[in-house]
Amino acid sequence: MKKVAIIGGGLGGLSSAITLANKGFHVELFEKNQHFGGKLMPIQLSDYSFDFGPNTITMPSVFKRVIEQTGSRSEDYFEMIKLDNHTRNIFPDGTQFDFSSNQQVMLSQLQELDPTGAGNYHSFLKEITRLFKLSEQYFLPRTFRSWRDYVSPSLGAAMLRVRPLQTLDSFFQSYFSNPRIIEAYNRYATYIGSSPFQAPATFAMIAYLEMVEGVYYVKGGNVKIAESFASLAMKLGVGLHSESEVKRVLVSGKKATGIELQSGEKVMADYVIMNADLLKAYPELVPEKERPSFKNEKVDKLEPSISAFVVMVGINKRFPQLKHHTVYFSDDYRQEFNDIFIHKTYSDKPTIYICNSSHTDPDRSPKGDNLFILVNAPALPLDGNLQIDPVAYKELIFETLSSRGLDLTDHIVEEKIITPSDIASQFGAYRGALYGVSANRKKDAFLRPQNTSKDIKHLFFVGGSTHPGGGSPMVTISGLNVAHAIIELEQ
Ligand SMILES: Cc1cc2nc3c(=O)[nH]c(=O)nc-3n(C[C@H](O)[C@H](O)[C@H](O)COP(=O)(O)OP(=O)(O)OC[C@H]3O[C@@H](n4cnc5c(N)ncnc54)[C@H](O)[C@@H]3O)c2cc1C
Repeated sequence: MKKVAIIGGGLGGLSSAITLANKGFHVELFEKNQHFGGKLMPIQLSDYSFDFGPNTITMPSVFKRVIEQTGSRSEDYFEMIKLDNHTRNIFPDGTQFDFSSNQQVMLSQLQELDPTGAGNYHSFLKEITRLFKLSEQYFLPRTFRSWRDYVSPSLGAAMLRVRPLQTLDSFFQSYFSNPRIIEAYNRYATYIGSSPFQAPATFAMIAYLEMVEGVYYVKGGNVKIAESFASLAMKLGVGLHSESEVKRVLVSGKKATGIELQSGEKVMADYVIMNADLLKAYPELVPEKERPSFKNEKVDKLEPSISAFVVMVGINKRFPQLKHHTVYFSDDYRQEFNDIFIHKTYSDKPTIYICNSSHTDPDRSPKGDNLFILVNAPALPLDGNLQIDPVAYKELIFETLSSRGLDLTDHIVEEKIITPSDIASQFGAYRGALYGVSANRKKDAFLRPQNTSKDIKHLFFVGGSTHPGGGSPMVTISGLNVAHAIIELEQ
């Protein structure tokens, strides 16, 4: 029986583990934290339960596929609830615009707010559907393992058809005319940790996921996805080791032969899969001389995606104005991206995203709302210093919300702040980035680090820093893809 060692128990590592164990591989997975699921992490503050990380779930079929490929029923593991009008966008002038996968809801709002957009909405849906279907056919199901994978004629032709040279902002401007509506759509760039004024229009496919397929929530918390994956992996015989940090990848004759834990224990394997953020873990766990194609200097030149400043608060009441997802836009969205990507600083007029999962699932916090408040933040600088006073920045966020009619301060029962430095240290995330490399530069958007090491045979990469990209469904897909690539090698 072939043996696989997996470094990191995020969604990527877990989906590889399940797929391989189901095909008879002996899998051992090592996770440095206590919990499995990586950035999809449960946080409990007295009676208030939170999902850290993925609060917006799209592509439910991807998570179900991981379970169902083993012959199990996904309904036995988690219940996905489709959210109706899933996100309320609120602007400083009081304009409200709800995102929904119900076309009628969208059209009736657009007729009032953006008649041009209403007229174009059908062709907009058609185009974002085309973009998604192309990605689904050519990019999402493949592992990128060598340069040959990039130069296949079919892929090259597909690349040209996904609007690689247009920016997201210009794409949305071609369908909508109200600047507020364009801002609401431009926010999709942040789902890949990038700026709408730089990232290619290809990523308008994210709008397809939300506007056509819809946004989901898992009853009892999105963390149920990770818990289900871990429990299924265990049933299939995967050795799941928490609080087991890997110190290095063992390499012999340019081939990965296992891993060594911080404890000094060595575990030999035929294949090693790195789910830990490769931008950080590859340089740390493999000496530079073993990876001439991935020198430290190359990593330093990559532009990391955005990070996040998060405040989780337990509230002693329910705020009726908060939907499951609510976004309070700043009055200068472009400035916010300039602050983050050009000046590499925190915005003093941030756009504020709030997830209130108790809106859908009151049992998660029976005594009042459980608010996960997120503001985009720059990735940490190379020297790793946090550039902000967390308490002062939290106050600025609360003051901004108060000026918009959401007064939290007198109602807070529990509170926890998580900064980019915490994200970097807790998950080993490169410079605290949420999604690996940003997609701002065309080269980085389309040429993410590959799913295998160019220098070390049998060393594979899964997760947000590799193909197909960041975000919970994408990393899960990368776990499936890499497992299938290993299975193919053994056939
Ligand atoms: C604040 C925030 C909000 C987000 N919002 C969304 C959202 O709404 N929707 C969405 O789809 N996605 C969202 N994401 C992104 C999503 O969480 C990630 O893309 C995805 O969970 C990453 O999964 P992964 O498998 O790549 O890696 P991770 O989850 O990072 O897992 C990697 C694991 O490797 C472990 N590890 C690292 N080094 C070692 C080592 N040396 N030894 C052993 N273990 C190690 C880490 O502890 C970690 O558990 C968000 C992320 C954050 C942080």
